Amino acid sequence: MTQPIPILVTGGAGFIGSHTCKHLAQHGFLPVTLDNLSTGHADAVQWGPLERADLRDAVAVEAAMRRHQVKLVMHFAASAYVGESVQDPALYYDNNVGGMIGLLKAAQACALDKIIFSSSCATYGEPQTSPVSETCPQIPMSPYGHTKLICEEMLQAYEQAYGLRHVALRYFNAAGSDPEGVLAERHDPETHLIPLALLAAAGQRGALSVFGDDYPTPDGSCVRDYIHVQDLAHGHLLAARYLLEGGPSVALNLGSGVGQSVFDVIHAIGRITGRPVPYDVAPRRAGDPPALWACAQKAKAVLGFETRRSTLDHIIQDAAPSFGLPCNKKEASHVRFVAE
Ligand code: UDP
Repeated sequence: MTQPIPILVTGGAGFIGSHTCKHLAQHGFLPVTLDNLSTGHADAVQWGPLERADLRDAVAVEAAMRRHQVKLVMHFAASAYVGESVQDPALYYDNNVGGMIGLLKAAQACALDKIIFSSSCATYGEPQTSPVSETCPQIPMSPYGHTKLICEEMLQAYEQAYGLRHVALRYFNAAGSDPEGVLAERHDPETHLIPLALLAAAGQRGALSVFGDDYPTPDGSCVRDYIHVQDLAHGHLLAARYLLEGGPSVALNLGSGVGQSVFDVIHAIGRITGRPVPYDVAPRRAGDPPALWACAQKAKAVLGFETRRSTLDHIIQDAAPSFGLPCNKKEASHVRFVAE
């Protein structure tokens, strides 16, 4: 029997990282989580060892890489709240850029030359049009988006100087839950639309605030591209195989390629759970682009990546039970509506 290939997964105790570890373990890899547990949870690390360390401690990171003889790095660990990054940019530059510096120092010391980086659609800022392709200008509007762009640029420089190959994956709006219910739901703090709307429908918090209904979009609310966390995990698996087979560095969007409005989300939850989402309309939230969804063609061409569970219906169906909500599967049509 062939040995599983060890991959260092920074942030493997977090939301997308832990789903990816599960998926990697199911496909012949050994995920070695490296996490400082500042926001991650040790009980989410179930598919390989946990190394508790901070990325800014390059010596500790290098020791973990050597101990497990890792062949590739997946770098998820970062601070990830746009609003918080505006309030406390120092935290974001220190953790996200400082973490990348420590990680790359350790990788160089071990002659590790393959890395998959969690970038973000936040690097595009407020694009003129959607769908957004990888060639659109990257002009981030928040310190969070800026830290992701700096890290992408660092990877390009490291590639030219040292031959470190990378895949930068620019996620759109990660959503959804583990359909098998193995990974627990965490909502503290919760700032994202879909869990907040589910909590409101379940009566676990008050009415959802819709941040603006006067945008230049079909129904006046903001349009986003929601991608199921399982599809994100699969994108990472494909990117790992791509680098291990010698593929050159590339930046790719990971999105569904479909735009959904805030009201689309509200209506879909009401339809699928039978519980209407109580809501009121609030002022626009600072820094929100009106519409942002991905052109998903490049990831398909380069990796053969296609989403499987990234319809709103799948996302809501998978998440509803963990909010104590019923799920009417007949109502879940999986039809892609709105702009394609
Ligand atoms: N949103 C909203 N009410 C909320 C939270 C979010 O109307 O309580 C909107 C937000 O303005 C954006 C969309 O939902 O248009 C998705 O926001 P989220 O914070 O989930 O992700 P983001 O797009 O900011 O990464």
